[in-house]
Amino acid sequence: MRPDLKAISTPSDAAARDEDIAASPLQVDRLGMMKALSELIDSCAQGSLSLALICIDINEFREINLSSGFEVGDAVLDEIVYRLRSALRQGDALFRIGDDEFAILLPSILHEDHAILAAHKISASFEELIIVRDSEPMDVRASIGIALYPDTAESDSELLRQATVARYRANTSKSPFEMYKKVLTPGNISPVEFARDLRRAVSNNELELYFQPQYELSSRAITGVEALCRWTHATHGKVGPAEFIPVAEETGIITSITSWALNSALRQCCEWRVNGKPLVVSVNLSAYDLDEGDFPELVQRTLRTWRVDSSQLMLEITETAMMHDQKRTIGILRRLSELGVGLSIDDFGSGYSSLNYLQQMPVNDLKIEKDFIIKMERSESDIELVRTVIDLGHNYGLTVTAEGVETEKAERLLADMKCDFAQGRYFSAPVTVDELEKLLD
Ligand code: C2E
Ligand code: MG
Ligand code: MG
Repeated sequence: MRPDLKAISTPSDAAARDEDIAASPLQVDRLGMMKALSELIDSCAQGSLSLALICIDINEFREINLSSGFEVGDAVLDEIVYRLRSALRQGDALFRIGDDEFAILLPSILHEDHAILAAHKISASFEELIIVRDSEPMDVRASIGIALYPDTAESDSELLRQATVARYRANTSKSPFEMYKKVLTPGNISPVEFARDLRRAVSNNELELYFQPQYELSSRAITGVEALCRWTHATHGKVGPAEFIPVAEETGIITSITSWALNSALRQCCEWRVNGKPLVVSVNLSAYDLDEGDFPELVQRTLRTWRVDSSQLMLEITETAMMHDQKRTIGILRRLSELGVGLSIDDFGSGYSSLNYLQQMPVNDLKIEKDFIIKMERSESDIELVRTVIDLGHNYGLTVTAEGVETEKAERLLADMKCDFAQGRYFSAPVTVDELEKLLD
C-alpha cells in the first residue's frame, strides 16, 4: 500500500479539518458561479487585473457511483472538495457546477503563471489515492482546463466555454491540465466570425471532398482512397482542414462536417462501384464524434442509403482521440466493428497509447504518422522505428498503412519491410473526383 494514502474522514473530522482552510466554502450553484464571474469581470474591466477560471471534471466518476454506490460516491466528492479547498488561497472561490464538475475562480491574477501554479496544485491534489470507509484505494483523476480574462475571452460565457474546451483538451491529450489557447484563424479573422462562415459553408454545401489514393504495396494497385475535406473561404481563399477542423471541434460544427463527409464519401463509393471500380473509402473522425452515442446508427443509416457494403468503409480515428474516455470509445468502436466497418488508428506514433489499450481496441489497421515516414529518408534509427511499428501491427493481426510517402526510396523501404498500404505525394496528392478517375484509368 502506498505510504501517502489519505483515508477520507467522517463528517465531524471534516468540520475540524475545514477550520485550517483559507479558501471560502464550496458553493453548489452554477448560476451563483456565473453571477460571481460576471461581477468579477465588471471589477476587472475597471482595473488592469485579470482573472482565471478553472474547470474540473472528475474522470469516470459515474463508474465509482455504479460500482461502489452513491454513498461512496458522495464521500469521494467530499474528499475532493476538501483537497481542492486546501489547494486554494483566500479569496479563491470553489463551485460545484454539475454532478462531478467543479469551477474555481481565481481573482486578481497578475500573470498567466499564477494560474498555472494553481492548476499544478489542483492537479497534485488528485495524486493521492482516496480511501472511503472499507473501499479499495481509488485512483481518482480529473481533467482540468484554464481560461484567462481578458487574455482570450471577452465575456463570462465565453470564458466558461474556453475553460470547458481546455478541460476537454486536457482529457484528450492526457496532460495534467490545459490552458485555453486561441485558435489561429486565417487573416486574423475573429474566431466567432470564422466559425459563423464555416457553419454557413457547411449548410450551403460549400465544403468539398478530395480523395487521396491508397496503394497496396505488393501489387501497386489502388485499393482505396482517403477522403479529405477542403474549404474555399470567400475572402481568405483555400483554408486547410488543419485550420478549420479545430474550430469545428470547438464549436460543435464537427458533427455536421462528419455526417456530410460520411454521406459524400459513401455516395461517391456507390458511384464507383456501379462503374466497376470498387474502392475502400476512408473517412476521418474526430474524438467528438465518438461522444455521440448514436454515431454507429448514423454510419449504418448512411451505408444503407447508398447501398454500400460495410467492408467498403474504413473509419480513421487518431491515436489521441482513441485514448480519450477509453471505456466509452471501446464500446462505440465495438459497435462500429460489429457493423463490419474497418477501423484504422490514424497518426499512430504521435500520441502515447498504452499497448494494453491497443490490444483491447477492435481495430483493423495502423496508420503510421507521416513524420516518421518522411524522417526515414535521413536516419537509420527512423527506419528501424518504422520497421518496429510495422512488425507490431502485424503481430496484433492488423494491416499497416504508411502515409506521407514522398519518394521512391520511401516506397522501396516500406515494401521491403512488408508494409501493406501506402499513400503520399510520391503516388498522388489528394485530388478531385475527376482527377482520381484519370488515375484509376
Ligand atoms: P490525416 O488524416 O492524417 O491526413 C493526411 C494528411 O497528410 C492530409 O492533410 C494530406 O493532404 C497530407 N498528405 C498527403 N500526402 C502527403 C505527403 O506525401 N507528405 C505530407 N507531408 N503530407 C501529405 P490535410 O488534407 O491537410 O488534412 C489534415 C488533417 O485534417 C487530416 O490528417 C485529418 O486529421 C484532418 N481532416 C481532413 N479531413 C477531415 C474530415 O473530413 N474530418 C475530420 N474529422 N478530419 C479531417
Ligand atoms: Mg486520416
Ligand atoms: Mg494521419
